Amino acid sequence: MKRYFGKYGGQFVPETLVPALAHLEEEYCKIKDDKSFQENLSNLLFDYCGRPTPLYLAKRLSKKLGVGRIYLKREDLLHTGAHKINNAIGQSLLAKKMGKKRIIAETGAGQHGVATATAAALLGLECEIYMGSTDAKRQELNVFKMNLLGTKVNIVESGSKTLKDAINEALRDYTANFKDTHYLIGSALGPHPYPTIVRDFQSVIGIEAKKQILEKEGKLPDCLVACVGGGSNAIGLFSAFLDEPVEMIGVEAGGNGKQHAERLTGKAREGVLHGMKSYFLQDENGQIQNTYSVSAGLDYAGVGPEHSNLKEMERAKYVSVNDQEALSAFKTLSQYEGITPALESAHAVGYVMKMEKAEDKTIIINLSGRGDKDAPQVMELLK
Ligand SMILES: *Cc1c(COP(=O)(O)O)cnc(C)c1O
Repeated sequence: MKRYFGKYGGQFVPETLVPALAHLEEEYCKIKDDKSFQENLSNLLFDYCGRPTPLYLAKRLSKKLGVGRIYLKREDLLHTGAHKINNAIGQSLLAKKMGKKRIIAETGAGQHGVATATAAALLGLECEIYMGSTDAKRQELNVFKMNLLGTKVNIVESGSKTLKDAINEALRDYTANFKDTHYLIGSALGPHPYPTIVRDFQSVIGIEAKKQILEKEGKLPDCLVACVGGGSNAIGLFSAFLDEPVEMIGVEAGGNGKQHAERLTGKAREGVLHGMKSYFLQDENGQIQNTYSVSAGLDYAGVGPEHSNLKEMERAKYVSVNDQEALSAFKTLSQYEGITPALESAHAVGYVMKMEKAEDKTIIINLSGRGDKDAPQVMELLK
């Protein structure tokens, strides 16, 4: 398996972790082409998660924005409300296949924690989630949901007490316990082979969308648009179209004018953190900077290595949408289509709202999740 995407990726981990990651890679290679594993996975994705998700032509939104045809890939309709479950189920099945009894994961806003806790309950695995104390306070409801699902939530008090610190703690736990524990990383990042594994488990989004658009339009779309936190929903959609003449746009969080999470569009630079070489927001001394976005899922200081490479090769374009634009998209999609997007996904919609010369274009927006989780926050913001 390829360890790098161009010059990004790799495996920057303590020596003690190398055998665990080698074992993971070996086992993953086995199940990748194993018919019974893949059938088992498909069955769960279909019957339990609700795949395939529709590719919906948003006619009123297209007309309102003066864009040719906007299609929404409806990952928001999945069980637990977002694309994260695709990866959580895939990796949990892999963990079981590897004979692991326990899974651990990091979570920022709690979405990946809930998806992982759900997969663990489904498959009868022990589960522990690491979450920064700042995040745990902000996302009480998700902490409760994880507990309800039988998962233990470990509150992290180190550093900025947010996602990056939760990842550090999860990596520490994994290093100590990998014999019986699988670390279920939530986005297309971390040390090799995680970026590849997560991309593959999310690639179902693009495979379905490609088939659906060909059925509906008889041709490929002009353009794909997806928000980029760590980059898993975007790469899940993009991967099926990489060899096609289709434009790809990843949307980062532009934040509030002072703080943001613009890794590929801002002043971020190459660095090494959390086991990978990629783009990170850092100061001139290489210290990782705090990020900010109205949407918790886009609020991470780094980006998956495959996106760094797609940017460098100019195969995908990266843009940013700020809090206000995302909030406006949150309202517009609700009012014109009766669909309330997650604030993360609202960034992708927000970019299409400001696209120019798109009257003849067919665009697929990845609607990575639903907005119910964000409604209380947006209610406060709009007061
Ligand atoms: C977590 C999350 C994201 C960001 O993660 P990616 O790995 O970049 O996809 C986007 N949308 C939703 C709804 C999320 O929950």
